[in-house]
Amino acid sequence: MQLQDKVAMVTGAASGIGLEIARVFAREGARVSIADINMESARAAAGDIGGGAEGKALALAMDVTNEAQVDLGVKQTVETFGSIDILVSNAGIQHIDPIVNLSFDNWRRLMAIHVDGAFLTTRACLRYMYAAGRGGTIIYMGSVHSKEASPLKAPYVTAKHGLIGLCKAVAKEGALHGVRANVICPGFVRTPLVDKQIPEQARELGISEEDVIRKVMLKDTVDGTFTTVADVAQTALFLAAFPTNALTGQSLVVSHGWFMQ
Ligand code: NAD
Repeated sequence: MQLQDKVAMVTGAASGIGLEIARVFAREGARVSIADINMESARAAAGDIGGGAEGKALALAMDVTNEAQVDLGVKQTVETFGSIDILVSNAGIQHIDPIVNLSFDNWRRLMAIHVDGAFLTTRACLRYMYAAGRGGTIIYMGSVHSKEASPLKAPYVTAKHGLIGLCKAVAKEGALHGVRANVICPGFVRTPLVDKQIPEQARELGISEEDVIRKVMLKDTVDGTFTTVADVAQTALFLAAFPTNALTGQSLVVSHGWFMQ
């Protein structure tokens, strides 16, 4: 029970990586807000984890790009569970296009979800964490694309690099209040986000879906293996449970060696 008596909010927790993090955090004793734009799936996830009478999970309707919804969701988390100790800023999307074909709308949409969303959720949580005076921890879901670029993913690569900057700024400002910030940088994980882009990349690159997996996604890993939601959730637990300010402002790559620091 590494997170006994802790309260966490995980954005984008109705699916994929965020859902597994919420499950693992709840199993380790935390009460968890499942904040997602997809309320139907968020409710199902909260029920599965232990919403209702058990009171371990709360579904929140939240578009992370909407300032009022973010502020309200964090307030509801604190009113329901009594505090906010851990934020996992995880909600995200992907968009596949070469830069020359990329619309300004798609650029802005991606930057808004990843960067504006990270800022708005961070600000709302920090206000409560500072006021409560019991410290806290913030985890950003970066990517190997926080360190490396790939073709067809310019806004994603830009946004994920940006999260490292935000993390370092939060680490500096938060330290006085006992708030730590770190980034997890996963390699490819089979979630709906990745399943959607396999045919899209195949089309853009003129290769088969099998080759997208073997020759694009897993080409530079040490063992040709996908990272799993369990790998990422275990890393999130390690960061969330870490007891001191020693581990802050860092980015941890979990990618079967695709990228080595
Ligand atoms: P996913 O599609 O399974 O889940 C993403 C969740 O985010 C969904 O539940 C979706 O409803 C939610 N979401 C989307 N827009 C939102 C918004 N505006 N407000 C609130 N919620 C919103 O994807 P995933 O693979 O689990 O991705 C989670 C995070 O992990 C993303 O930030 C992604 O960039 C990152 N990541 C994924 C991989 C991968 O290979 N899957 C690798 C590295 C990083």
